[in-house]
Amino acid sequence: TSGGDIVLEVTGLSKHFGGLKAVDGVDIAVKRGGVHALIGPNGSGKTTTLNVLSGLYKATAGRIVLDGTDITNMAPHQRTAAGLGRTFQNIRLFRSMTALENVEIGAERPGNTMIGKGEDALTERAMEALTFVGLGNRANELISSFSYGHQRLIEIARALASNPTLLLLDEPAAGLNSTEKLELHELLKRIAAQGLTILIIDHDMTLVSEAAQHITVLNFGRRIADGESMAVLRHPDVVSAYLGS
Ligand code: ADP
Repeated sequence: TSGGDIVLEVTGLSKHFGGLKAVDGVDIAVKRGGVHALIGPNGSGKTTTLNVLSGLYKATAGRIVLDGTDITNMAPHQRTAAGLGRTFQNIRLFRSMTALENVEIGAERPGNTMIGKGEDALTERAMEALTFVGLGNRANELISSFSYGHQRLIEIARALASNPTLLLLDEPAAGLNSTEKLELHELLKRIAAQGLTILIIDHDMTLVSEAAQHITVLNFGRRIADGESMAVLRHPDVVSAYLGS
């Protein structure tokens, strides 16, 4: 059933922590190709949504379908195998390993049918992903020798090397300086130009307003707006949610 227009279909998603409805009946439909952003003020439920999508938390209610496959009850590693790639807000790279070795781990994903068999194919795919983010010439350097911004790019390269159906980016601009933010924005555009689908979580409207074509806005765990970026950002409920935060 894969190959449809909608890559990720989330319906009625809820995550409650005791009496707190962190996510409350949220619908999200991510179209194939391009950048879709999930935004909202602090505490609106973005991180919780992402953690339910990637399987870190079990949904209280609702359904998550990735490219025709129901992944609602899958473990995180099964979702990765099903084509869900992600990065983390706090960078998770192996610091005692090289950039290339870290990215090879991504390429090794079970279910990555886009690469051939064997070590050479993994290395080749990892090199390709590192080169794509602009760090191919530093492949053999240890993670500790890279700036914070470049470590974030390496994390994105690791996710890209797995050839995901959907790439989830958790606040990729967090901790980056303005130059690095511009580089990131340019990279997102190049990823989208390759036809890959990205769901980006961010509280900062600036990056997403330029990078995303489609925006879903959460407030207090509920979806308050959804649609084409410019229209959503002008929506009175969105403006007041951000002013009030
Ligand atoms: P955002 O990412 O938009 O800032 P979060 O998803 O982190 O929002 O938080 C949404 C709400 O859920 C907040 O009120 C937060 O305090 C609460 N919350 C998040 N994680 C937990 C948890 N593990 N246990 C209890 N409450 C949580």
